[in-house]
Amino acid sequence: MLDADFFRRWMTATAVSVDREAERLTALDSPIGDADHGSNLQRGFTAVAAALEKEDPNTPGAVLLLAARQLISTVGGASGPLYGTLLRRTGKSLGDAAEVGEAELAAALRSGVDAVMALGGASPGDKTMIDALVPAVDALADGFGAARAAAEQGALATTPMQARKGRASYLGERSIGHQDPGATSSALLIAALAEAGSE
Ligand code: ADP
Ligand code: MG
Ligand code: MG
Repeated sequence: MLDADFFRRWMTATAVSVDREAERLTALDSPIGDADHGSNLQRGFTAVAAALEKEDPNTPGAVLLLAARQLISTVGGASGPLYGTLLRRTGKSLGDAAEVGEAELAAALRSGVDAVMALGGASPGDKTMIDALVPAVDALADGFGAARAAAEQGALATTPMQARKGRASYLGERSIGHQDPGATSSALLIAALAEAGSE
């Protein structure tokens, strides 16, 4: 079973890898965006880690709702409300249980990804974070390692796509040939989930 401590480890592992990869995320956001994705998420997940330390939420749902609030209030760009919605809907789906199973987490994450698609209007193939998140959720039934591999594959698969949502879509065909920054950060989020699960 997965308790609040597992979800806290997931969020702090995400903060660590976003910190480590911030420059790369911003570099990916340079040719097809406004070169702020790394700094946006760094600011957001630094706030998440600080809030978790201060408030010490004691259920899985409360950890994710607190993280969502921080992302929505501190990340200026499109990715803030989108990741905030992902974690808020996932957290709400988990309710106030003290522990949840992996199948419950998979179902909750599925509802979170659906909420991101409803908010942003993106579908698979539009060259967004959805292209990493949907394959990850599909693979989660086979375990965290499978989800991580699927998210990484999904992020790589955005390179030949033409963007149809977000800033990159303004470039039309010129968005082709660049990996999507948001799909790349989503792969980090799912890798951090696998990391939390291996401890
Ligand atoms: P901004 O584009 O406002 O500067 P970021 O650079 O932080 O925001 O995030 C950009 C990422 O957000 C993109 O790479 C893409 O993955 C994701 N994104 C943008 N718009 C959407 C959308 N409508 N649906 C899903 N993801 C989106
Ligand atoms: Mg940007
Ligand atoms: Mg921006």
